[in-house]
Amino acid sequence: MAVKILEDKCIGCQLCVDACPYGAINMVDGKARLNEKCIGCGACIEACKVGAIVGEEGVEKEEKDVSAYSGVGVFIEQRDGEVARVSLQLLGKARELAAQLGSEVYAYLIGNGVGNLTEMLIQKGADKVYIVDDKEFKYYRTLPYTKAMVELIKRTMPEILLYGATYIGRDLAPRVAQRITTGLTADCTELTIDPETRLLQQTRPAFGGNIMATIETPNHRPQMATVRPGIMKEMEADPLRKGEVIPVEVSVDEKDMSVKVVDVVKEERACVNLEEAKIIVSGGRGLGSSEGFEVLRELASFLSAEIGGSRVAVEEGWIPQDHQVGQTGKTVAPELYIACGISGSIQHRAGMSGSKVIVAINTDPDAPIFSIADYGIVEDLYKVVPELIKELKARGLEGCK
Ligand code: FAD
Repeated sequence: MAVKILEDKCIGCQLCVDACPYGAINMVDGKARLNEKCIGCGACIEACKVGAIVGEEGVEKEEKDVSAYSGVGVFIEQRDGEVARVSLQLLGKARELAAQLGSEVYAYLIGNGVGNLTEMLIQKGADKVYIVDDKEFKYYRTLPYTKAMVELIKRTMPEILLYGATYIGRDLAPRVAQRITTGLTADCTELTIDPETRLLQQTRPAFGGNIMATIETPNHRPQMATVRPGIMKEMEADPLRKGEVIPVEVSVDEKDMSVKVVDVVKEERACVNLEEAKIIVSGGRGLGSSEGFEVLRELASFLSAEIGGSRVAVEEGWIPQDHQVGQTGKTVAPELYIACGISGSIQHRAGMSGSKVIVAINTDPDAPIFSIADYGIVEDLYKVVPELIKELKARGLEGCK
């Protein structure tokens, strides 16, 4: 919600300052004034006894000159100098969209000591890389990154801006949308341009996946969307591509530093991250119990694969939620997806149908998973999986733990 302080009505009582949980109101010349920490929660509106703070309905809608915006921007997510695959996939999509619009692709890179990544971003589709490189941006923190993105948007005025639907993208994009007063469509599965209106068509599942909704942002800019990892296709790196690298300075001060990173503790992972995995061995209700996953883990260890699961497997408590594949889980696009005892519901397929090769093991020959499988084995998984392990051992492969 947009919030506005009506200065002529403000009596300087500071009740709003005390009420604001975000430290988003300062007193300037005896009057309350909002700063950029405001998230529009409206706590100040309730606290004000003289009606000097109004919400969206009291704020005149700011008309944006949408024609002043051009270019397709991508927020480049990186950790420890490693770019998330989804950002490269989005650069690939941004290239397609920019080609249709006759505009450029902007990569927004924020971090510390990340200058070595710019060349790769150009090879992967960026025309201009705007880089904010400072020790304050070493780790992702909501407020400093929001400030940097807002400054980059004001400076470059992109028509479209894409983020990965990752923990970071899902945290950052709504905050930015609120600060610059624009819309945001979360978890898009398809992005196209309407050739007549030139508007971005942002398609995502709605109503439990039963319909696909297409959403437009006609009156505000940039048109912002988050996209799940694994959906868009990364373009081949082109070493001959030329682009521009533009350093941008963003100063952050004490008030942007409400969070201090004391330590970063990495979660122990046996193999690789599900969304980045090349091979996934996934289990469903057909496993019958959590012990079934032990069998799958053994197979996975020979293939350096990650373990996935259907929602039923997660709800049964056989595997933690962050292994869930599907509409309400993760979207994956490995080279090889081995579905064991998974029927292949529409919601599960929504998260894995982009896999390059799908192998399904299921006792039911009519299970829907077979309609998208490249190789189908109609058999009890407890017969097939041990056979596979035996064969891998016979070929001299060793499991990693
Ligand atoms: P089942 O559909 O029960 O299939 C089990 C399969 O195992 C059967 O085909 C059976 O023939 C086979 N089988 C049994 N024994 C064996 C054996 N010994 N060997 C081999 N095969 C065997 N689901 C997801 O997975 N991910 C999601 O993100 C997700 N999101 C959802 C969101 C919404 C809004 C809704 C409504 C549902 C969602 N679901 C999701 C649930 C989805 O509809 C299905 O219920 C679920 O995917 C089924 O899981 P399953 O395939 O493990 O179980």
